[in-house]
Amino acid sequence: MREPGIPPNPRRPDGRPEEDSRPDRPYFPEIYMKMAFELAKRSTCARLQVGTVISSVDYRRILAVGYNGNATGLANRCDRTEPGNCGCLHSEENAAINCVEPRETPKIVLVTHLPCVQCAKRLLNLGGVRRVYYAHEYRSDESIRIFRETGIEVERLKI
Ligand SMILES: [Zn+2]
Ligand SMILES: [Zn+2]
Repeated sequence: MREPGIPPNPRRPDGRPEEDSRPDRPYFPEIYMKMAFELAKRSTCARLQVGTVISSVDYRRILAVGYNGNATGLANRCDRTEPGNCGCLHSEENAAINCVEPRETPKIVLVTHLPCVQCAKRLLNLGGVRRVYYAHEYRSDESIRIFRETGIEVERLKI
């Protein structure tokens, strides 16, 4: 037990305490990545199901969520079967649209698949993104270069 007056253990950037009496406790990135996979199940895209969670950097607030699919009010299916041009809005794009948090607020993005280049640029323009966690590789890893070039940490988180 902690003595009174002793401040809590400092936290690592991943949200896990430096010392933990229960190391098996799931840490926030894992919890939110699982949530991103649950969100992906709502996707109506025939090609790929992707989910995104945008969190505050202390993981105390979820700022927005998204998954890929057609625009609200349109038919719940892809416009075309052509790979890479199915017409669906991407998961990260929808999460960025749903995020009303100011640019200045530091953010962490957790996405089931490595973002495409266009989504990486949208996340740049959302502002405040400090780190991106992704679980699955995507056909291009060009976005990793974009994130690194702009000072955003990017890390693969397999769950
Ligand atoms: Zn689609
Ligand atoms: Zn994308």
